[in-house]
Amino acid sequence: APVSVPQESHGIDARLISRNAVRVTDTLQQAGYRAFIVGGAVRDLLLGVAPKDFDVATDATPEQVVKLFRRARLIGRRFQIVHVQFGPELIEVSTFRGLSNGLPSAELPAPESVDAIDAAAARVAPAEIEALAAARDAEADPADSDDDAQEPAGTSTDTITDTITDTERDGGDGGEGRGRRRRRRRDDTIGPHAVDASGRVLRDNVWGEQHEDARRRDLTINAMYYDPATQTVLDYHDGLADAKRGVLRMIGEPLTRYREDPVRMLRVVRFGAKLDFDVDPATRAPIAELRGLLSDVPAARLFDESLKLLLSGHARASIDRLRTEGLDAALLPTLAETLADPVGERFLTLVLTRTDERIASGRTVSPSFLFAALLWLPVLRAWHGYVAAGELPVPALHRAMDQVLDEQLRKLAIHRRFTGDMKEIWGLQQRLEKRPGRSALKLLEHQKFRAAYDFLLLRAEAGEIDAAVAQWWTDFIEGDLGAREALLANTG
Ligand code: ATP
Ligand code: MG
Repeated sequence: APVSVPQESHGIDARLISRNAVRVTDTLQQAGYRAFIVGGAVRDLLLGVAPKDFDVATDATPEQVVKLFRRARLIGRRFQIVHVQFGPELIEVSTFRGLSNGLPSAELPAPESVDAIDAAAARVAPAEIEALAAARDAEADPADSDDDAQEPAGTSTDTITDTITDTERDGGDGGEGRGRRRRRRRDDTIGPHAVDASGRVLRDNVWGEQHEDARRRDLTINAMYYDPATQTVLDYHDGLADAKRGVLRMIGEPLTRYREDPVRMLRVVRFGAKLDFDVDPATRAPIAELRGLLSDVPAARLFDESLKLLLSGHARASIDRLRTEGLDAALLPTLAETLADPVGERFLTLVLTRTDERIASGRTVSPSFLFAALLWLPVLRAWHGYVAAGELPVPALHRAMDQVLDEQLRKLAIHRRFTGDMKEIWGLQQRLEKRPGRSALKLLEHQKFRAAYDFLLLRAEAGEIDAAVAQWWTDFIEGDLGAREALLANTG
């Protein structure tokens, strides 16, 4: 039985709660169902942090949920959930999942799947949290908003910004999309719950009791339920105590839980970095032995998870913890090589620190910029290698980029749009570095100029290139016509 914690003890500040999430739980409760805010939102509320999004758990089935809301749609196949849209805010409603699937009780399914991740990717980028929070309060009644507002806007005005939008992720660009469709078709042939030979969950749509739903979540701090009507927290696994102690603890037998879903190892890293929590020794211990399991996780899911790590606002700490846990090679096989190089280490430290600062101040960050930085040293080395072997610089650079990307993409399915931008950023380095002459003005207009220039500045700051090169560009950008002419004349 759960511990029922009253407001006086948990101290959640109701002002941090999304009005729309409360609308959802209210509506469900008025229709006779049970409904709670659940998971990460409760964890963040307990820690006094404004949650970036709100999930609701209920005993109503997805079909029953859909009927109650005007702007609701059933999504996912492997893991069915309902999206209820309120202007830009999306509330994700999931039905309590059960354990009684004919599985040994230890083999608990992961409540997250590729489809759930598709859903998550359709949300706004983490960096837009604050804008979202502001919009949330200003939000009119959903009945008033028109259909165009249904999809969260994924665009930003920032020049070096990329955000992932729904359409891009599911867009018909062949690669990742095709793989996903293939998986879906295979899933169609199996029942509501299915597990493969290695214990991994293929499909998970068996409804259950709330205590079962709690049991199959990952960390104790992620398995609490909050009822806005009574302001009570239901705590099934001592999550409140762990939240207070600052400890990440896996529910159940950690080894089994990682086997069911190896991505939980990355989640431990992510929440540890984000919350600055310690990892309980028993939760930490099996990771060293099981890290190899990550190689079986689809590259698309690992990409999503690494984006969450990098855009968590704690990229620096996440990378550090990945290294400590020996999980870095599963995501970024070249990271160790980069960090072993003093210049590479300085460069990445600058990039990651800058990323975290941008997110802290509510600005967006560009995944392509980040991945371009993470892979820069291997690109540079391969490039120089080809040039030393007699190849011309430009073709050599292209070969180096393709080679490094090929290798990286085996681990992470970095989205095509990003790899395109990464190549632009890399390709521009070479053009920015050589004395640009008259083409300088044209370069200014290049779509990726700003990103490439920022990249160049960080390279200079890290001591990889002569600071004068970056300074030349800064002067050129800031200079008036006369100053630019003078700079060009001096470049000769
Ligand atoms: P964030 O702040 O990043 O959104 P979160 O805890 O809400 O953190 P989500 O990925 O949104 O993380 O998942 C919502 C909830 O679903 C989690 O709190 C957890 O209870 C459960 N969950 C998600 N992924 C898993 C998993 N792989 N295994 C077990 N439980 C999971
Ligand atoms: Mg969440």
